[in-house]
Amino acid sequence: MKKMLLMRVDLITIFPDYFSPLNLSLFGKAQEAKLIEVKVHDLRTFTADKHKTVDDAPYGGGPGMVMSPVIWGEAIDSVLAQATIKPVLIVPTPSGQVFNQELAQKLSNQEHLVFINGRYEGIDSRVVQHYQDSNKFSEVLEISIGDYVLAGGEVASLVILEATSRLINGVLGNEDSVSDDSFAPGSMQNLLEGPIYTRPPVWRDLNVPEVLTSGDHGKISQWRKEKALERTKKFRPDLDSK
Ligand code: SAM
Repeated sequence: MKKMLLMRVDLITIFPDYFSPLNLSLFGKAQEAKLIEVKVHDLRTFTADKHKTVDDAPYGGGPGMVMSPVIWGEAIDSVLAQATIKPVLIVPTPSGQVFNQELAQKLSNQEHLVFINGRYEGIDSRVVQHYQDSNKFSEVLEISIGDYVLAGGEVASLVILEATSRLINGVLGNEDSVSDDSFAPGSMQNLLEGPIYTRPPVWRDLNVPEVLTSGDHGKISQWRKEKALERTKKFRPDLDSK
């Protein structure tokens, strides 16, 4: 049976090479199989001056430079002109909602994602405002991947894409491995995954827990749940109380 395109992804950036890892591993295979189509756009091709300037000094003063809404508007409109449905616009920013598995799940059901990757002090705020007001996207999401500041949105986009793409049906080899993950919906929703083992049964005097070689699936699943709870209490007590 012919596989069909499940997701289209457009990424706009001043560093197109940052996205070469998307040609590797699961994401690379999904592209080869034409399940996911990726287009990387160089923001500088939308500039009009000799120096291909994309930034300017901030109004109100302060350090650093702000990315121009004029250039971003041109670039985003050109991506929109090629879209067949209203895409979701994703704006990585430390001041956005915090990314999590639930959001990855939601994005994995979308057919078209557009990522705009800021640098310097970020993108002029009117860009988000304009695309929120204009109804050109089905949704505009400002997303942070954690409480720290990166130099640009590219790494954040890669994180969001990797977490999202492995949840698309047909992208991951073994769909079961998703349901066993930390944060997976269902019994593991608010739990971290416990310890995992493979052969050999003894390595540097360390044994694989006996229960895992017992063949008793009921006991194994109970043990896994207990270990997941222990680990969650230790590293993420905030999750345990949810
Ligand atoms: N002045 C901004 C602030 O304090 O919110 C930080 C700008 S940061 C140096 C440059 C770009 O990196 C941002 O526009 C954003 O695209 C990206 N970025 C930095 N930290 C991020 C995070 N935690 N999550 C998502 N994107 C981030």
